[in-house]
Amino acid sequence: LFITLEGPEGAGKTTIIDMLLNYYQEQGKQIIKTREPGGIPISEKIRSIILDPEHTEMDARTEALLYAAARRQHLVEKVIPALKSGAIILCDRFIDSSLAYQGFARGIDMDEIWKINQFAIGDVMPELTIYFDLDPRVGLARINNTGDREINRLDLEKIEFHELVQEGYYNVIEKFPERIVKVDASKPLEQVFQDTIEIINHFLKE
Ligand code: C5P
Ligand code: MG
Repeated sequence: LFITLEGPEGAGKTTIIDMLLNYYQEQGKQIIKTREPGGIPISEKIRSIILDPEHTEMDARTEALLYAAARRQHLVEKVIPALKSGAIILCDRFIDSSLAYQGFARGIDMDEIWKINQFAIGDVMPELTIYFDLDPRVGLARINNTGDREINRLDLEKIEFHELVQEGYYNVIEKFPERIVKVDASKPLEQVFQDTIEIINHFLKE
C-alpha cells in the first residue's frame, strides 16, 4: 500500500509520518517511511543539488527534470521493492508536489510536468494521498519558529510563490478527488494525527 503525504512548508508532514510509523509498528504492521526528493543515496544527492541555496540560477525545467530523476531512482530502488514485500509505504511528498511546485507555481504547464513524471514513474501511483491543508503564511511562521531546519533554495521565495503552490495543490485535488483526502493541518498536532489515522484506517478496512 503506497501512501503519500502532501502539503505546504510547515504543515507537519514529517512529524506526522514519524507518529504514524510508531503507531502502526506498535500494531505489528509492516511499514516503512521515506521522503522525496531523497530516500536513497542517489536521490539524496540530487536533493542537495536542487535545494542548494547557492543555485539561484537553476532553470525551472532543469529543476523539474531533477525532481523526476530523483523520483525514478527512489521508486525503483525503494518504493517498488517495498510494495512487492507487502509493506505499507509512507512517503513524504511525491508527484503532486511536482505538479504544484514545478508546475503551477513555477509556471510550467501541469500537463508537461505530468508527462515527464509518467516517463519517470510509469503507472506506479499512490493509492492514497493525504493533503495537509494549511494557510502558507501559517506554515512559514511555524518553520521560522523552529530554527532547527536547514535553509534551502525555496526559503528564498516570497509568500506569493507559496500561495501559488497552494492553488496548484487545489487544482491537483480537483483532478484526483478519489485519491486525495484533505486534513485540516491548522488544528493541534495530536488532532491532525488522529484525523490522519482515521483516514488511513478507513482505507485499510476497504
Ligand atoms: O518537504 P521538504 O521540506 O523536505 O522539501 C524540501 C523543500 O523542497 C521544500 O522547500 C519544498 O517546498 C521543496 N520542494 C519543491 N518541489 C518538490 C518537492 C519539494 O520545491 N517537488
Ligand atoms: Mg517536512
